[in-house]
Amino acid sequence: MAQFYLTTTLPYINSEPHLGFALEIVRADALARAHRLAGDNVFFNTGVDEHGLKVWRKAQGLGLETQAYCDKLAASFNDLKKLLDLSYDNFIRTTDQHHQAAAQEFWRRCLASGDIYKQHYSVKYCVGCEMEKTDSELENGHCPLHPDQDLELIDEENYFFRLSKYQNQLLKLYDSQPDFVVPANRLKEIRNFVANGLQDFSISRLVSKLPWGVAVPDDPEQVMYVWFDALVNYISAIGWPDKPEKFNQWWPAVQIAGKDNLRPQALMWQAMLMSAGLPASRQIFIDGFITAGGQKMSKSLGNVISPVELVEKFGADVVRYYLLAEINDRDDGDYTDERFMEVYQADLANGLGNLFSRLGNLAWKNGLNPLAPKIGQLYTKVIQSVENWQFNQAVGYIWQVYRQIDKKLTEQQPWKLETAAAQKSLQPLVEDLVDAAYCLQIFLPTTAKTILNFFSQPITGKPKPLFPRFDQFNNNFKK
Ligand SMILES: [Zn+2]
Repeated sequence: MAQFYLTTTLPYINSEPHLGFALEIVRADALARAHRLAGDNVFFNTGVDEHGLKVWRKAQGLGLETQAYCDKLAASFNDLKKLLDLSYDNFIRTTDQHHQAAAQEFWRRCLASGDIYKQHYSVKYCVGCEMEKTDSELENGHCPLHPDQDLELIDEENYFFRLSKYQNQLLKLYDSQPDFVVPANRLKEIRNFVANGLQDFSISRLVSKLPWGVAVPDDPEQVMYVWFDALVNYISAIGWPDKPEKFNQWWPAVQIAGKDNLRPQALMWQAMLMSAGLPASRQIFIDGFITAGGQKMSKSLGNVISPVELVEKFGADVVRYYLLAEINDRDDGDYTDERFMEVYQADLANGLGNLFSRLGNLAWKNGLNPLAPKIGQLYTKVIQSVENWQFNQAVGYIWQVYRQIDKKLTEQQPWKLETAAAQKSLQPLVEDLVDAAYCLQIFLPTTAKTILNFFSQPITGKPKPLFPRFDQFNNNFKK
């Protein structure tokens, strides 16, 4: 049994969970479920990043004590587990005492490697990204990801991390493992960036300007830069440094991140691990963004889609289906209510939903015997696609099977046949449906369970509809 550790990034809790993070964690969940189905021993980590300027300012702006604010938001992120039917094993908060102690120990290791030094720091800073920005990265003087926010000047004495020292080791890591970052164009992007030369980066802030962060060891005037502390969660979550057995059992991790996280995950974090004398991550999957009708979602445009509202209206599996089957897994994807309804109607209500109710009804009327799923070619193809981060393809394989069953059902018309002949016609179709439902557990766990349960025992009546009627949903969209 293989050990498999995967982790999402930790979102900042300066706002409620957004659809982009729902995408990241639903894909991560599918990967975790695929590995569990394949018999692996899985540890799936997620959580929240509670430090940094923007979280602190948010709490200040609301007049709340920062920790109290974080407690409230952390709970609403952890609510996603039930809401989106997620199977994570651990929810880490960067304010956890264990994590803060781990971040401090990590700092000491990097210091001992000669990679931390003090220097004057003067940069333009995007609080939205919690990252410094060079002029070449700006568009019209603003961060392209946060065009509504002004950049701020940081001008203070800080500690720096000697990133420049790791250029060659990083290039070696990328070259030795061509699938270290997936999709491949993201590996190329980060490789080019590193090949062009690396600047050391600041890893602390003056307490007098930002009192909210992990204390720098032996310097009461400085707290850690939020990224330095947060990245360490991937190992503090599995017991580093005080539980070496647990750490060695799970590390290295497969990491999942949005495209704005490419540099922190594939570059900064990897160099930090090298400095601390720890193995690199196992693999990093990079997601694109979700736009709304082709536009960036933003509060000022009023087009932010809440994953919470969507699930409350349509249920976890419907939202999971849209994210996994419809959102492009190689680049940015788009959300519109119209497309959501089209996909719902075509693939779920009229597709799988209708097929299950027809086949279930016929199986009941013709007294088909209980069936257990078999593992075959479909399973192999689905698992392979998920492991390559190709969710559109993986779900597509399952829907191909549904369409084939549907076609055969229409051709064979078993409802016109005598019982024995009908059974003979239905048996292979139900077998295919059940085998596909076994794979469907990875993506739509509740739906898959309903199908598997229905056919695994003597059928005593016609099945209940898998997906509610379209017109009820349609009313939900009228605002
Ligand atoms: Zn930004």
